[in-house]
Amino acid sequence: MTPETIQVLLLEDTESDRLVVEEALRTAPGQRFRLEHVDHVAHLIELLRRPQQPDVVLIDLCVHDSQGIDTFRRVRAAAPDLPIIVQSGLSDEDLAVTAVREGAQDYIVKGRFDADLLLRTIRHARERHRAEAALRTSEERYALAVSGANDGLWDWDLASGRIYFAPRFTDMLGLPIGAFGESAERWFAAIHTEDVDDFASVIATHTAGAGGHFEHEHRVRHRDGSWRWVLCRGTAIRDDKGCAARMAGSLTDVTSRKEAEARLKHDAFHDRLTGLANRALCLDRITQAMRRVRRTERTFAVLFVDLDRFKLVNDSLGHAAGDRLLLGIADRLRTVVRPADTVARLGGDEFCIVLESIHTAEDARIVANRAREALAAPFQLAGQPVFATASIGIAINDKSHRTADDLIRAADLAMYRAKSSGRDCHHTFDAEMRHRAVTRLGLESDLRQAIDRQEFLLHYQPIVSLDNGNMHGVEALIRWNSPTRGLVSPLDFIPLAEETGLIVPIGAWVVGEATRRMALWDDESSRRPPLLDLSVNVSPRQLLSADIVQIIADALDRSELDPSRLVIEITESVLVENHHLASRALCALKELGVRVHLDDFGTGFSSLSYLQQLPIDCIKIDRSFVNGIANKGKDLEIVRAIVGLGHGLGKSVVAEGIETKGQLDRLKGLDCDFGQGFLFSRPVDSWAALPLCA
Ligand code: C2E
Ligand code: MG
Ligand code: MG
Repeated sequence: MTPETIQVLLLEDTESDRLVVEEALRTAPGQRFRLEHVDHVAHLIELLRRPQQPDVVLIDLCVHDSQGIDTFRRVRAAAPDLPIIVQSGLSDEDLAVTAVREGAQDYIVKGRFDADLLLRTIRHARERHRAEAALRTSEERYALAVSGANDGLWDWDLASGRIYFAPRFTDMLGLPIGAFGESAERWFAAIHTEDVDDFASVIATHTAGAGGHFEHEHRVRHRDGSWRWVLCRGTAIRDDKGCAARMAGSLTDVTSRKEAEARLKHDAFHDRLTGLANRALCLDRITQAMRRVRRTERTFAVLFVDLDRFKLVNDSLGHAAGDRLLLGIADRLRTVVRPADTVARLGGDEFCIVLESIHTAEDARIVANRAREALAAPFQLAGQPVFATASIGIAINDKSHRTADDLIRAADLAMYRAKSSGRDCHHTFDAEMRHRAVTRLGLESDLRQAIDRQEFLLHYQPIVSLDNGNMHGVEALIRWNSPTRGLVSPLDFIPLAEETGLIVPIGAWVVGEATRRMALWDDESSRRPPLLDLSVNVSPRQLLSADIVQIIADALDRSELDPSRLVIEITESVLVENHHLASRALCALKELGVRVHLDDFGTGFSSLSYLQQLPIDCIKIDRSFVNGIANKGKDLEIVRAIVGLGHGLGKSVVAEGIETKGQLDRLKGLDCDFGQGFLFSRPVDSWAALPLCA
């Protein structure tokens, strides 16, 4: 690689001296120079203004227009960033020395140098100049970094114990320069008492020889009384024996980062709307309480608070009002507990109270009552008074609850019990509830598997025309043939299937299977045309599910069963609780051509107006009325009224649960259209049912 050409600008007014330099540079071994020459300082300064600058300026101090040190000063002022080498005569060498002191890179004495020396001087001047420039930039960068990072520097002489604090250090704390003097005591006195010992021990460990540097975050008192979070970084400078002689470092204000972290942490553990603890924090508090009470006589309780009919407020007054109600509830719940207790919002209208340190369950019940009383006064929402009540479940911590989740679940179960016993009350979780919960859980998981394992089957019970005793139809009734439980009655699993939603797939299977079976019977039957109706029970949840119409339409398609032969049996309760949705579903089903019977009539609270409005073809009188009908009395009158009512509205009537001849005769006497009961046949499996249908 050929070395780069060095550009030299020469100020020299003596021809012979110029030639000496020229000759030396031209013949320099291994280095190329480009020499430019002027004999006036003014001219030189002019050339220095060009963008293209020389690498080195070589000047004679005595030229036409300038003499002595002044020559150097003028050139230096014009080219502060260029290396300048001074040439002096033998007699004025001290002038050259002065120039060097003032910033010249070097000097040579005329007549005393050869080509070699000149070359070396030029090269060195250039190198040194570059190194100095680099140093200058890095120093500047360092100063910039320090001021940019806004750090307060400190420097601690460990031998004397004196500390230098940079102005920024005390400034950061709102204090005047020198506020700490040179003393570690005064510095440490400003540090938060909870942090200072830890900080001191970190410093001690570091000075004793651990680690390349240390870092510590702590709070320091600001002059305005607030606490500032600072990050203190430092490193010890050790002697050759490894002993720390000095320690230096910086202090950075990290308050805003700490505050942001704290905010994030707060948000992660608190409910946005009410500011109460959220589920995560609630679980954490319960877990801590579980640990704590293990060592004491005392216990603690979890209260699960669920608002009654909150949905009504949201639906009628809007979400903003709903939110305001939740805020109001949160405020009132806060007032019923002690500071150590936790009030949390688990989500929606569910709150949870963790009562620390109670003696007995009675203490928790007192708080539950207090909470209900606190909610008693009306809330003002959208300009009107709104009354809120809550159902509260209480779970007392004991060994049977292993995790915080267990305990919340127990309180939740107890809350459900409170809801089902009429709302606005509290209930305490007990062993019996646990037993039921466990049984239920087992049943639920078995039931889930039963669908996949095809453990369900259908039995069929005939429905008979009372006037001629002919079979009019069959009702399909589900059974669960469980490998572990035996044949399970629908009464024992339909309610759970309904609650868990499993009824939707189970119900779809029932409709599909019953219509399929019906089509098979049709094929095998000698009746032409087949006359039988097929009744299937459809539970409330099933009726309200989105795809009920599709499921029934598919079943009809697949079996090619005439839709008018399919009867859907629904119960009154679905009409009472979800009137609009239910009637919409019923109308859609009617459009398919299927018929609808109202099952178990008389046990619910259906108002007579429903019977008129809804597309119901037939009423099935509940077994409980039929049961007592043989003895003249109230039941007979009720059945008489129902039959009359049904006929009055143009609907037919089926009596369920006919077991005796006496009952049958009474029903015939009342003009009841159809009957169903053990007197005719118990529900039987599909093989046994075949002859009935044939
Ligand atoms: P349900 O729809 O009212 O069915 C009539 C119930 O009364 C059947 O009980 C039947 O065996 C019983 N029964 C009929 N005649 C007599 C009688 O003379 N004496 C007595 N003591 N009982 C009689 P089962 O089969 O145990 O079904 C009970 C309930 O389970 C049904 O009442 C129905 O509500 C529900 N269920 C049955 N199958 C299904 C189904 O596939 N889906 C849905 N959602 N529910 C079903
Ligand atoms: Mg039924
Ligand atoms: Mg019934």
